[in-house]
Formats: sequence, structure tokens, C-alpha cells
Amino acid sequence: MRQPCDLLLTNALVVTMDEQFTIHPSGSVAISGSSILAVGDIAGQFEAAETVDCRGRVVMPGLVNAHTHAPMTLLRGLADDLRLDVWLMGYMMPVEREFVRPEFVALGTRLACAEMIRSGTTCFADMYYFEDAVAETAAAAGLRALCAQTILKFPTPDAASYEDGLASARAFLAAWKGHPLIVPSVAPHAPYTCTPEIFRVCAELATEFDVPVHTHLAETAFEVEQSRKEHGMPVIPWVKKQRLFDARVLAAHCVHVDEGEMRTLRDAHAGVAHNPTSNLKLGSGVAPVAKMLQLGLHVGIGTDGAASNNDLDMFEEVRLAALLAKGISGDPTAIPARTALAMATRLGACAMHLGDITGSLEPGKRADLIVIDLDHAHTTPRFERDINAVYSQLVYTTKSTDVVDVICDGRWLMRDRRLLTLDEADLKSAARDVARRIDGFLRRREESVLQKLIAVGGAAEQESFEIQVKARVATEDSVLRALESEDVSIIREVHYHQYDIYFFFDDPEQGRLRYREDEFLDAQRQVVNARARLTLTGPTREDAFGSVLLFRSRFFAPATHSPRFYREYFKPAREREVEKDRRRWLVAYRGVQFYVHLDRLLNPASDGFFVEVKSRTWSRRDAQDKAAVVAQLLERLGARPDDAIEADYVEL
Ligand SMILES: [Zn+2]
Repeated sequence: MRQPCDLLLTNALVVTMDEQFTIHPSGSVAISGSSILAVGDIAGQFEAAETVDCRGRVVMPGLVNAHTHAPMTLLRGLADDLRLDVWLMGYMMPVEREFVRPEFVALGTRLACAEMIRSGTTCFADMYYFEDAVAETAAAAGLRALCAQTILKFPTPDAASYEDGLASARAFLAAWKGHPLIVPSVAPHAPYTCTPEIFRVCAELATEFDVPVHTHLAETAFEVEQSRKEHGMPVIPWVKKQRLFDARVLAAHCVHVDEGEMRTLRDAHAGVAHNPTSNLKLGSGVAPVAKMLQLGLHVGIGTDGAASNNDLDMFEEVRLAALLAKGISGDPTAIPARTALAMATRLGACAMHLGDITGSLEPGKRADLIVIDLDHAHTTPRFERDINAVYSQLVYTTKSTDVVDVICDGRWLMRDRRLLTLDEADLKSAARDVARRIDGFLRRREESVLQKLIAVGGAAEQESFEIQVKARVATEDSVLRALESEDVSIIREVHYHQYDIYFFFDDPEQGRLRYREDEFLDAQRQVVNARARLTLTGPTREDAFGSVLLFRSRFFAPATHSPRFYREYFKPAREREVEKDRRRWLVAYRGVQFYVHLDRLLNPASDGFFVEVKSRTWSRRDAQDKAAVVAQLLERLGARPDDAIEADYVEL
């Protein structure tokens, strides 16, 4: 008597991707409900409600995308060919802060699901904000997903604080635990965006709910260098110290890890997601994947988000993973096609800690599979002498567009290349609308240096009157002597080494941006403290008493990035470096407080000294009073007012 089943795929070249790499040249797959009942030469044993003849086609497990940020499809191609920090902090994060809401996340995920189903992916590991919307959308589209709610140390689009983020992650895990398609997870974003506490607490939370932790580790050499500098150890031992590996971990990237760190990952049963396109595109390097596999690590393949790839096509990714390993090692036997395909299926599922339910065609596993049509010019001919030739055919010649049918959890998601769970026309038009809005936002922002400054870290505005005069003095003696005299009283004194970069823009209305590093020096001229900040000085709106009294706006922001970041982000038309040794006094003279600066220019080097008398105030009346005294003070300091120079140092 024949056993009943819901669906029987017959006469297929069945590539099971099980541990023995079993292939059935003319095999069948029997499916009942969401599960695979049997695989192989079994057609005669089943009485199927529906039978599909797959002659000339490959049936294999659906591809597993082990790391992505699905909603970022809406940011595809937004800002490319930029360095990681400029790309992430300058573009992605500001746009995300402005646009990322649950509806955005749902739309981006739908678009991602359409693309993934079309290209043969049935399971993906996600990490984003409003992960609830990702989970809901993926489940509705019929895809299997590990959905990780992101936690960062700074405010995110869905959490005003880390505590809020943690609370919503807990609620998310509780809501989705046990879902047939969705495995909820928590994602401490990366070591450089999280505190030690975040890693510890996330691992505890994941352990409590028995779900994986999804994170980014050792993506760039810079990250590892910083970790060594700050913690005295590279990234993997540092997260281990935070007890991250108490949980089951899926670690994306692991580009810059040594063999000892690979062993640590393996011994912790952590999975690694290799993202070759993203790592190449952002210039991060190439993960030592061949070595990881040799050590027995579970390495999957991921596309990463569409903003850094720029697509979610796993066929491209598998091919690249195989080619890249050969290219960097000079060894064409590194990562053979079969291994690459295993990474994109069974090993990827294992890396996601879903190896017992998906990733290969085996009885008892979920029915997550795809059908590939090999009847194309680019897949012809096919040699049958060696059955394993099918792996090279699938990896080196097959394109994602050759996928004709997709089934996940026993449900048809695509049939004859027609999507069954998503309306693509609708999606494309909604995505174009979002792109138009983002274009408008960035266009407005890119017009203004101030808006760009606000976008990367806020800026506090101060509109003020500035009283300032500068003059050259031949020696410092006259100034120091005057400061010791009775009619000048010193309130405070600081000594620093000052390094400035001025950025100029073609449009003078944009003002002038200064990046300044102050190193505070002690009496022995040793650096005791340092700070960096940005000042955007607006154009002068009023100019009275020559250059003595100016009315203009200044915006301040802490400089949390490198000068190189700001250069690439603001794209100034010109720039100028100024380096000086500055002694600064806050003095009272004739009942008025001024700052006195005594500067020695180091770069561009200059003989002599510059003295500057300066004050800022918010009232016109006060400014006028001070302006009346300032020239006298300058004279008192030994500088002749006719030596006064109107220009700022930068214009010297
Ligand atoms: Zn990522």
C-alpha cells in the first residue's frame, strides 16, 4: 500500500546537500505538510495529492542567507564607493534615523523577500530595527528567518536608550518564540557600537529564551586595532570575556581573526557568516574561510544588507566565495564548488543554529527547497561521467534567474517564476516613492554644511557678538610682562598645542568649518588631556569697528570621527592646516573680561608671535562696551594697534 503525501517532485536531479553529499540522478522528494517525508528513488512508495515532473531540473535545498539586513533594500545604491565610517555614520545612520519606522521596515522586508524568493533563498538571518515588522513580513511571505532585534549603545530608530532597546528585545523574543517559520534573536550590533554590558546582557537574554545571538565581529582591521588599543586584546577574546559565548552565537564577518580566535569560535559552537561581496565592497578584506572550514567551524554565506552588496542574490555570493578563496590563496583547490554550495545551504543553517530543521533534503527536515531549470544555453552541455559535476554547474554557471520554483515549509512561494505570496508591481512602486522621499531629504541636507553637521552628531548654535583683535608681536616678553602688571588680573591660564584643519566651501554662505584638536599641556609641556571638536562659523552678518566687533553664528559639535572622515563627508573645496602653540589667559582688565591668546605658529611656521584679545557676548550693548576697551588692552600687551591684522590666522 502506498503512503499518502501532499506533494511529490519526481524525475529530478536531486542534490540533497546532506552530510554525505548524496545525489539522486533521477530521484524524488515526498512532502507532507511542512516536512520532507522521503528523498531518493521513492516515487513508487507514495500516493501524492499532487505530483510534479521535474525532468531536466535540479531539486535542491533552498539557499540560506546567513547574514542580511532585509529592510535595507530600500537603501540600495543610496551611497556607494565610500569608506565604511562615512558610509555608515555619514549616510546610512542619518537616513535611518529620519526614515526607519515599522512601515519602512515592512516594505523593505517585502521587497527583500521578493528578491530572495526569486533568487532561490528560503531562509535568512536578519538584524535590524523594528524586527517585529521583519518577522511578521517574512512569515507572511512564507520565508524562514532568524530575526534579531538590534541593540546599540546609542539611540536607534526604535529605542531612545539601550534600556528601551533591551526591553523591546525581550518582548520580541517572548512574542515570537516557538513560531514555525521565525526564530527570534537578539543582536548586540558590534563591539564598537556596544558596551561590555550590552554583550553580557544580550547573552543572558538569549540563554534565558534559548535563542541565538546575532552580531558583527572583527569586520575591519581598524576595529581589531581599536580593540587591542582599548582592551589590550583582539575582538574575539574580548567578547568571550563578556561571556557572549555563553549563548549560541552567529557572528557575521570575522574577517580579521587569527587561528586562535577561530578555535575559540569553534569551541564555542559559534557560527560564522561570510559576506564576500560586502567585505570587498567596503574594502574590509577577505575572511580566512578555508582555514575556518578546515578547523571545523560552521561557516555560512551571507549577502549582508542590500546597501553594501547591493543585491541579495545568493548564487552570486556562492560563486564569489569559491572564487575569492582561490584568488587570495593562489590555490585553485581552495573552497571547491561543492563546499561553497554546502556553505550556502547546510553549513549556513548550522551557523544559524537551524541545522536540525533546514539546509538539506532529508526526511524529517522542513520542506525548504528550490527547483532549478538547467535547459539554458549557459547551462549546456552537462556532463554525466562524474555526478559531482553538478556542483560546479550550480556554482559556476547557474544564475539565480534559473530558479523556477520555490517551496518553503511545504508551501509554494514561487511557481514557474511567478511569486505567489507577494505583489511585486505594488512593491516596486511603493519602494520608488520611498526613494523619492530619501532623495529629497539628502538633497536638502547636502545643500547645507550645517545640516550635514547636524546629521552626524548634532550641533549647538550660538549667535554671538565677537570682539577680537589680533596683532603680531616680535617677542613674547611684552605680553608676559603686561599680564604680570597690576591693572591686569589673571583668572585662569591654559597652555595647549592646537591643531586645526579649516574646510572651505565654494559658497561663502556655507561658512567655514574648523576641525580642532586641543592637547592640553602641563608646566613640563607634557600632554595631559586632549579633545577634538568642530566649529562651523557662519558668514559675518554685521561688522562694526573694523574687525573688532563681529556678529556671526557659530555651531559646535564634538568631533567624534577622524579628520579624514570629515574630509570625505563634507567634501570641502579647499582646506588649510594650522598648528600652533597657544597660551591662553582669561583676564580682567578695566572691569571687563577678555581672553588673551599668545600664539606661536608652528605650521605654517612663522617668526615671532601673535597676540589675540577676544571676547564673546550675546548682547549688543555689552559688546560695544567691550569693544571700547579692547584696543587699549592690546596696546597694554605691547602690540601696536596699527599692527592689528584683520584676517584670521587661516588667511595669513
Ligand atoms: Zn551586517
